[in-house]
Amino acid sequence: MRRFWIHSRLVVGVLLIGVLAVVARAAPAAADPLQTARSGLPEQTSWPLAGSPDVVRGFDPPAQQWGAGHRGVDLSGSPGAPVLAAAAGTISYAGMLAGRGVMVVDHGSLRTTYEPVTAILPVGTKVRAGQQIGTLAAGHCGQDTCLHWGLKRGDSYLDPLLLGPQQSGPVGAVGSGEYRLYPASERQAVTERLQQRPAAAATIPSAGGTDGPLGAAGSHGFSFPVAASITSPYGMRFHPVLHVYKLHDGTDFGAACGTPIKAPYAGTVSAAYFNAGYGNRLMLDHGVVDGRRVVSGFNHATSYRVGVGDRVAKGEVIGYVGTTGYSTGCHLHLMVWLNGQMVNPMSWY
Ligand SMILES: [Zn+2]
Ligand SMILES: [Zn+2]
Repeated sequence: MRRFWIHSRLVVGVLLIGVLAVVARAAPAAADPLQTARSGLPEQTSWPLAGSPDVVRGFDPPAQQWGAGHRGVDLSGSPGAPVLAAAAGTISYAGMLAGRGVMVVDHGSLRTTYEPVTAILPVGTKVRAGQQIGTLAAGHCGQDTCLHWGLKRGDSYLDPLLLGPQQSGPVGAVGSGEYRLYPASERQAVTERLQQRPAAAATIPSAGGTDGPLGAAGSHGFSFPVAASITSPYGMRFHPVLHVYKLHDGTDFGAACGTPIKAPYAGTVSAAYFNAGYGNRLMLDHGVVDGRRVVSGFNHATSYRVGVGDRVAKGEVIGYVGTTGYSTGCHLHLMVWLNGQMVNPMSWY
């Protein structure tokens, strides 16, 4: 986690570089921050994917160290596509970090990072610009495949697109062609997603509950919906897909896709729909249990076999574990509301 923390002074520096970059474009005679960003980097640079890939999400550093942001750029690609070194250097990391393949190429004072990538060259290999270092894996952009490409100097994150401008490299070199950059539309999608959450939460039934003693977790007769270990608990975390610090608003069970999801307690299906973030989602209203109106939410399923209005018994199969929506692998994301308030599922189950 620590590696994602950016001291606010560094962020100010990065923002300043961004401002200066705009100034530099308007007035080429001004001090050249792009050259500063590239200092120590060989002249020739390459896109890390063949051709001139679409930038589907731009660099958007957080305004504060815990803030929401995107510490690199996402380039559209297909699974198995060759991942290329953006410049000459030495591979300094090739391995798994938080469940995904990450590669780092050291260029001296700068490092470029690539994920999710399956390495084909080991640490210590010297590479030239455009040389294949690995193959692109799925998982960074939800159901679409993309390469998250980063540029770092020390602990500070820079915009990898800074590598490109003013280059006279071969066709396909960064900056030699047109960028197709859609950060504004992506920002809108993220904003909409964030707005959907309270809207969805507002539809969670809360009537009938009281505010009496909660009682011990596990004492209410609820069973786990899948027999699998918890791979990520409820709480603040660095989101592997969105690359922001946010509340992980449920409990993840690491079950294989296709594993039956069993109703943890009797209830009535109150909603079933697809959400870009939660994937295939189903809400089960358990009514008032031990004084609380209890609703469980099931997310990322491949499919459900019950629908709105269906009454289900405890233990009945309601659907199958999947990886729909913003998800990096097969799992069940379980959510719980008590009297309309989202809680840590493990405080009740
Ligand atoms: Zn990314
Ligand atoms: Zn989750």
